[in-house]
Amino acid sequence: MLLEVRDLHVEFRTRDGIARAVGGVGCTVDAGETLAVLGESGCGKSVTAQAVMGILDTPPGRITRGEVLFQGRDLLTLKEEERRRIRGARMAMIFQDALSALNPVLTVGDQLGEMFVVHRGMSRKDARARAVDLMDRVRIPAAAQRVRDYPHQFSGGMRQRIMIAMALALEPALIIADEPTTALDVTVQAQVMDLLGELRREYRMGLVLITHDLGVVADVADRIAVMYAGRIVESAPVHDIYKAPAHPYTRGLLDSVPRLDRKGRRLTAIKGQPPNLVAIPPGCAFHPRCPLARDVCRTDVPPLYEVSEGRVSACHFWRECLHGRD
Ligand code: SF4
Ligand code: MG
Repeated sequence: MLLEVRDLHVEFRTRDGIARAVGGVGCTVDAGETLAVLGESGCGKSVTAQAVMGILDTPPGRITRGEVLFQGRDLLTLKEEERRRIRGARMAMIFQDALSALNPVLTVGDQLGEMFVVHRGMSRKDARARAVDLMDRVRIPAAAQRVRDYPHQFSGGMRQRIMIAMALALEPALIIADEPTTALDVTVQAQVMDLLGELRREYRMGLVLITHDLGVVADVADRIAVMYAGRIVESAPVHDIYKAPAHPYTRGLLDSVPRLDRKGRRLTAIKGQPPNLVAIPPGCAFHPRCPLARDVCRTDVPPLYEVSEGRVSACHFWRECLHGRD
């Protein structure tokens, strides 16, 4: 097991009170596996990722419970210096907004090269050559010239490729990509996603792909974990989820995106808004929006029911959802 997150809890102190951003998340990622973490914005996906990476400082969040086992060691018990070493070399993160993640006053060649100078002790010249290689690997045309350009001189899609190159530089065992294609237009999204999938296979990395967009994960993910109000509400192999969701929230997400296998079907948005994390509804947090909700849903928090091997759902009525209308 490459990554195992156990019972992770994260809180934020806000003006309105304590926000329970992550309320007991558990998940695993194997080497070479892609886990997609899916949910509307504000459901705790990014906070979970930041807690795993150990970069939960802005805004000030606090891990109150849980374990983050990376290659068998609990990262939450390591010294910051040791974590920083792991973060640089063995796990890397890709963000949505490359322009703010890259340094605007350094050429991309210098930024990529820096990784090799700092972590591998290479000379500037060798590091520069490796930077060009990497830019080639992520298919940036004319890499040998473009290595001298600054981030703002690249298109959004090309900048995202540079971020991928930065993440790949030290050949990490795990990459966490937080909405890596959200800012791009649809065709560029598909290209960047294909590239990420291809490199993941080639380097046999674990990949955690965080997204609000079910449309982008079908082809690349092995498994999907659906998050709602700081919890994972369904987790299953990707094909199971597409065939028949076992949680009404997953069904709502599926019904709100266009799908090739369901041409001509009306798209319906999930009614209402995700809850404020300072005041999560009692019982099942999804009950105010759920078409299947009953009295018990308003009082009893659903545990994670085992639906089948490798598949869980936090819905009292998962059977009904699974075999229900379609
Ligand atoms: Fe809906 Fe109840 Fe299931 Fe929650 S537990 S998803 S409210 S049916
Ligand atoms: Mg986010």
